[in-house]
Amino acid sequence: MSTKYIFVTGGVTSSLGKGIICASLGRLLIARGLKVTIQKLDPYINVDPGTMNPYEHGEVYVTDDGAETDLDLGHYERFLDIRTSQTNNVTTGRIYYDVITKERQGAYLGKTVQVIPHITDEIQSHVLKLGKSGDYDVVIVEIGGTVGDIESLPYIEAVRQLKYNVGRQNTLNIHLTLVPFLAAAGELKTKPTQHSVKTLLESGLQPDILVCRSEHSLDESIRSKVARFCNVEREDVIASIDARSIYEVPLLMKEEGLDQRVIEKLNLPATEPNLESWLGFVEAVCNPSGSIEIALVGKYVEHHDSYKSIVEAFIHAGAVNDCKVKVKWLQSDDLTSENIMEQLHGVSGVLVAPGFGGRGIEGKLAAVRYARENKIPFFGICLGMQCAVIEYARNVCGWTDANSTEFNLDTEYPIIDIMPDQKDIENMGGTMRLGKYACKLEQDSKALEAYGKENVEERHRHRYEVNNNLRYKLTENGMKLTGLNPERDLVEIVEIDEHPWFVGVQFHPELRSTVSNPQPLFVDFVKASVKHAKSNDLFFSLKKSAAINS
Ligand code: GLN
Repeated sequence: MSTKYIFVTGGVTSSLGKGIICASLGRLLIARGLKVTIQKLDPYINVDPGTMNPYEHGEVYVTDDGAETDLDLGHYERFLDIRTSQTNNVTTGRIYYDVITKERQGAYLGKTVQVIPHITDEIQSHVLKLGKSGDYDVVIVEIGGTVGDIESLPYIEAVRQLKYNVGRQNTLNIHLTLVPFLAAAGELKTKPTQHSVKTLLESGLQPDILVCRSEHSLDESIRSKVARFCNVEREDVIASIDARSIYEVPLLMKEEGLDQRVIEKLNLPATEPNLESWLGFVEAVCNPSGSIEIALVGKYVEHHDSYKSIVEAFIHAGAVNDCKVKVKWLQSDDLTSENIMEQLHGVSGVLVAPGFGGRGIEGKLAAVRYARENKIPFFGICLGMQCAVIEYARNVCGWTDANSTEFNLDTEYPIIDIMPDQKDIENMGGTMRLGKYACKLEQDSKALEAYGKENVEERHRHRYEVNNNLRYKLTENGMKLTGLNPERDLVEIVEIDEHPWFVGVQFHPELRSTVSNPQPLFVDFVKASVKHAKSNDLFFSLKKSAAINS
């Protein structure tokens, strides 16, 4: 069977949840026994989102192979339980970079290099890469942006051509659009959808299936109207109304028959989808026995998407522990040793988040200290782990000036320091310690207990490390280095024994948490936090009908 390509475009407005629709469709097709992956095409000129501010673009999602990618790839991995790579995320910047590099090498010698055909050809070759690997029955291609955007045009044109290059029977277009409810008129309106389909048609693309996002259910007359004006069959108008949790969307899409229509149209071998474990997970997410509050201390907390994978990892770990984790967002800039007790009041766990730069560091150190001294479960991730080490060096080891050279180049005790191989790097893009690295766990550690195996691999994104020349001071004073990178002897995990759960990790465990495989350290951290909550009267019992967004 040749690989089938499903192109997903978006219309009317951004933020309709195209990534979730793609991931949900992917999940449904996998549940039918098909091999599926998803690719995201992003129309911006950055080569990758690695150099973008989290306020600008949300979390940078790092893959095993060290690609810095769009956060939608996180949804793909979490829903599909697959591993993505650089090939799964292509930006306009990357396309131009490749074309211009080829031009300089003389690959187009004699030719005028143009958007059509050179850029559109390059887009097509990137799209075909995943299919050509022979690993997939279906490649879902999410096209970022909204139809009608100038910058999306080359992608739409590339898709139009691809339909003919791989055969029309092997491709399908799904268009995600908005059917807004106008309160004043008391009606759902189809005009924006009609216009966005018209815009697609102007570029030569006719959608095969329309997924209509709406706050209200679509009645028969609205569905027929959309079908009639947009040249699709009535069954190809799929309603996508707001769900209790993003993880419920695959179930709602199945009810609407999205996967069934895709199977029929692409002539894919159809088996009944097996969604038993997914259903169990959604039930656990939407109907937990209780809830606890965990503080997330970071400097980008106004923009929750900056910590997307952490929030999702909490949902996965919460389901395992039959408990909803409510995140208490704490802006590290606002925390001081004077107000920390009040700020952390009522929380059963403290997570100090990853980040860059010195802003808010003293607030993070205050949070670490409070959690350490008051025996509240603590989880430090990347910069959060570095803060745990600095705090320990200062307040337990007595090196009051200890710091990271990221924040103070002149510190007497650079307990966190830049790696020698990072010192001469001048470019900012793609030059950190990125991607998957091995970590060997020590006996008698919380980490080993959580993972249940000695050798693990996790993803990284940082320039600084625990200073190997000074780490003796930490161990002399009781901090345990319970995970080490075997190749370079770098500190990956730190723990403290005289504490119910105090773990800092140099890597990003949140990036590998999926619905089917919740990340073990998150599961254990939430378990410890539930225990803390129960013994401190901080556990809120819920009736078994509570919904996740309540
Ligand atoms: N800024 C720190 C470093 O580069 C931590 C990075 C992070 O938290 N991802 O090492």
